[in-house]
Amino acid sequence: MASLLERPLRAAILAAADSPFVQRTVSRYGMQLGARRFVAGESTAEFLSVAREVNARGFAVACGILGEGVRERAEATAAADRYCALLRTFAAQGLDANVAFKLTHLGLDIDPELAFENAARVAQTARECGNTMRLDMEQSRYVDATLAIYRRLRAQFDNVGYVLQSYLLRSMDDLISTFELEPNVRFVKGAYLESPSIAYADKRDVDAQYVKLVETALTHPGYTAVATHDPAIVAEIERFVAERGIPKRGRFEFQMLYGISPQLAQSLVERGYRVRLAVPFGDFWFPYLMRRLAERPANLAFFLRGAFSRR
Ligand SMILES: Cc1cc2nc3c(=O)[nH]c(=O)nc-3n(C[C@H](O)[C@H](O)[C@H](O)COP(=O)(O)OP(=O)(O)OC[C@H]3O[C@@H](n4cnc5c(N)ncnc54)[C@H](O)[C@@H]3O)c2cc1C
Repeated sequence: MASLLERPLRAAILAAADSPFVQRTVSRYGMQLGARRFVAGESTAEFLSVAREVNARGFAVACGILGEGVRERAEATAAADRYCALLRTFAAQGLDANVAFKLTHLGLDIDPELAFENAARVAQTARECGNTMRLDMEQSRYVDATLAIYRRLRAQFDNVGYVLQSYLLRSMDDLISTFELEPNVRFVKGAYLESPSIAYADKRDVDAQYVKLVETALTHPGYTAVATHDPAIVAEIERFVAERGIPKRGRFEFQMLYGISPQLAQSLVERGYRVRLAVPFGDFWFPYLMRRLAERPANLAFFLRGAFSRR
């Protein structure tokens, strides 16, 4: 029953995210009501403090400044500047942290060339700092453009990665098409609402393709980021790497989102795996929060409890 209701509930939450009333109300009170569970804060200082604490618990960090769908060239360039400054700060302060960002934050909706130039600037700074960066994957309409920019970056830089979503039917073909680049790929299930004509509607298919993608990547040259909180998939990947003699560090890492499944993440660190937490910060946290609520509608109850307990 719960799973029957899940898809319509997810769709309703993601649709509500487009409502100006919901945007105004949640943006006004959301941080106090519970967004802080998933977001390190609004300022760089708050982020750096969380990143240090996360490093101290044995995790690497993937830093993301919250932002997407930027419409002004200056805003997109400023976002790239902020990523470059953060990379220099990580190097200066000895933080184990890299960056991952959405290309629409760096100008993809304005001009793909602008997004490429901004991303290349971040890649260059990351290289100078001995660090890496990754392009997140957004809605399906951006997949071709994101892969095209990844390929152009990869031709110049060996410190860039990208993301594939296991809910998309096309993802295995996309993975295979990048094998010649010895790619650094993060695998996720996918956080957006996509049409059944291009995406698996049944969670079992999404999960099965997830495992297939990760295991295929792990048997080819490159680096794999297994980004999931799904304990069954984590157990399957642990079994697979042990059986193949793939070392716990060097060829792959686990990744999770800040504030989600902390015990599973900590237990992986304790078992000797490299685990990276994606830690977002910034003031544009509304769409990020709505995706986290849609992934697990039970979070909505947590969020609303926060609202009513403060009355
Ligand atoms: C590091 C990282 C980077 C990501 N980058 C992208 C990206 O670039 N593009 C993209 O489309 N998606 C991205 N995602 C989101 C991803 O697509 C999924 O929406 C999200 O990870 C939930 O899927 P799951 O693999 O955890 O499995 P699920 O089957 O959804 O969840 C498994 C279990 O994890 C826990 N869980 C999952 N989500 C939540 C939540 N929101 N709150 C509380 N508990 C939860 C629950 O216990 C649940 O039973 C990223 C996820 C991670 C971890």
